[in-house]
Amino acid sequence: MLPSPHPCPLQSRAARWEGRLYLFFVTLLTLLTSLTAVYTLYHPPPRHPPLPTYHVPLQLSLVFLSLLSFFCCHFTHPGPPSLWSDLRPDLPHPLYPSQPPPAPRYCLPCSAPKPARVHHCRTCNACILRFDHHCVWLATCIGQRNLKFFLLFLLYTTLAATHATYVLLCFMRAIHQPHVHHFSTPRDVLAGAVAAPISLAVSVCAAFGVSCQLAWSMWLAARNETTLEHLVRTTENRADADRGGKELLVYDRGLVSNLMHALGGNPLLWLLPVYGGREGSLKGRWGD
Ligand SMILES: [Zn+2]
Ligand SMILES: [Zn+2]
Repeated sequence: MLPSPHPCPLQSRAARWEGRLYLFFVTLLTLLTSLTAVYTLYHPPPRHPPLPTYHVPLQLSLVFLSLLSFFCCHFTHPGPPSLWSDLRPDLPHPLYPSQPPPAPRYCLPCSAPKPARVHHCRTCNACILRFDHHCVWLATCIGQRNLKFFLLFLLYTTLAATHATYVLLCFMRAIHQPHVHHFSTPRDVLAGAVAAPISLAVSVCAAFGVSCQLAWSMWLAARNETTLEHLVRTTENRADADRGGKELLVYDRGLVSNLMHALGGNPLLWLLPVYGGREGSLKGRWGD
């Protein structure tokens, strides 16, 4: 992770507090669900065989990686346009030499040129490289620098929520067996009748919703396209598509290169929430 100032330095005080509220809410829900699942693993219903012990470290590892990716994504600058400032607007893009030079663009709020793939976020009031969208849950933009952390957050949250769903379903099914009298103490009532059903509902919703977002984001990353670019392209190309025209993916350089662009140059580090360092190689190529 690159140490950097907060990605939204120009946000209003109210927007910053709103962002912190979402961060707190996501963290609380994640911890509540996972710790309830772990609690049920340590306190199986009477006369019911417990699940294998490896479920505890598995759940804790997944939730740790999910929260680590979550905070890495929030605290990493999504991508200052200065990374691309060496680009000469009259020459083709160094990464995509077959494409014609982009038309010069200028951002009025920032009073600065906008190189290729840079867009202005109105929430953050800043230009972001490879701007995908502004995520309210993470209280930051998703851009070139924190895209990998965003994808890993989606991946590990999906895995953690799916695993918690399995554990909690086993627990709920066990305590509702006719011969089991599990609600003998206030703690059992709290765990079995309150925390477990709420956590199960949260984990089912998270597993479904986050996995859909993961599939969508990975599909875009495999094509080296952002959500914004996809919306613009599909809108502009709708007339061509209606006439049977071929889809034009401007930045597509093949699956492996596209994933390296998003996740970093070393595939061995793709699943770890460490910075991929792609802009270093990008910057070097500006000077070629
Ligand atoms: Zn701007
Ligand atoms: Zn933003």
